[in-house]
Amino acid sequence: MKIARRIENLPPYLFVTISKKIAEKRARGEEVISFGIGDPDLPTPKNVIDKLCLAAHDPANHRYPESEGMPELRKAISTWYQRRFDVTLDPDSEVLPLIGSKEGIGHITWCMLDPGDVALIPDPAYPVYGISTSLADAVPYHMPLTAANNFLLDLDSIPHEILEKAKLLWICYPNNPTGAIADIGFFDKVVAFAKAHDIAVCHDGPYTEVSYDGYKPPSFLQAAGAKDIGIEFHSLSKSYNMTGWRVGMAVGNAKMIDALKRFKSNIDSGVPQAIQLAAIEALTGPQDEIARHNAIYQRRRDLVVETLQDMGLEVQTPKASLYVWAKVPRGFTSASFATEMLDQVGVVVTPGTGYGAEGEGYVRLSLTLSDASLVKGLSKLSSWRGTVGRSKSR
Ligand SMILES: *Cc1c(COP(=O)(O)O)cnc(C)c1O
Repeated sequence: MKIARRIENLPPYLFVTISKKIAEKRARGEEVISFGIGDPDLPTPKNVIDKLCLAAHDPANHRYPESEGMPELRKAISTWYQRRFDVTLDPDSEVLPLIGSKEGIGHITWCMLDPGDVALIPDPAYPVYGISTSLADAVPYHMPLTAANNFLLDLDSIPHEILEKAKLLWICYPNNPTGAIADIGFFDKVVAFAKAHDIAVCHDGPYTEVSYDGYKPPSFLQAAGAKDIGIEFHSLSKSYNMTGWRVGMAVGNAKMIDALKRFKSNIDSGVPQAIQLAAIEALTGPQDEIARHNAIYQRRRDLVVETLQDMGLEVQTPKASLYVWAKVPRGFTSASFATEMLDQVGVVVTPGTGYGAEGEGYVRLSLTLSDASLVKGLSKLSSWRGTVGRSKSR
């Protein structure tokens, strides 16, 4: 049997060595605290779970769903966008429920890129943009996100010959992994750039509801004309602690939404209906859990930032997202610092290079571990200070 090249060519899982080390340490009975995973530890709000349980008992929800989603869910998404962002969406042509936004992010590439076309992809970034581009035999062009530019894309630096072949541009704010934010002014620039070069835009925005200090992240679709040229991916995963339920959405440009709908209707059968009903409850029911969760994350964020700064790491306090993006101390690489933390104090941080070559020099810490684990992890990290001298003299 021969496995297809597109699978054989997939990059190896970047955290294999670290995962192996974690397993070895745990097997020896050593405690390992992980800041690696970006997956809310807090439970889904009760009203949403109750709705799912009720819906699960109704035989009408045991059958195939429609792949374009229930009209009631599309309406709920459109109403939510109107209320939250003052963005008007036609539920029939501009809204598409997804089996988690990752599903749509992986598939839109197949709808927009022919073999050899270029996708403009930030670096560092959520790995799915680049991998799905390569799977579709298209070409990723990586654009560095740098601290000097507040981790915003420098659209003027893209060479002319790349722009000619570019058909798709990915952006993500609030950003994973850097925690950076963008304002509508930046989105306006993206719209003007995309229109000037006829490049479709995908904004990946699962963290618009996860924000701190009273900051309210905007939607890409709030930029004038954004719907002419792009779509936004959004998700219930991070807003409502529903990563395990798999429900998200694409909204915006009707032509792109229709292409994604046509693709999906040929390979999947949509979001299970009981989950769609629970998603409607999440979007239309009481929203106060969001502020409560954000207050918890904000407290964790402050503790993490303080500990890292005490250790001598350079770190900005993120205004949104679930991540702290920290510069590794001088003399370390992303990987060597992550290894040092695991070996010396039993703490897992994610090397920035897991999100692209430009992530070198950084590590990512996630805020999605229980308060008790977080406190334990931070005290372990603080205990590393004593080893700074040793590591420098090596
Ligand atoms: C979590 C995450 C997603 C995927 O969310 P799902 O809706 O659970 O698939 C997409 N993009 C980024 C940047 C994420 O961090």
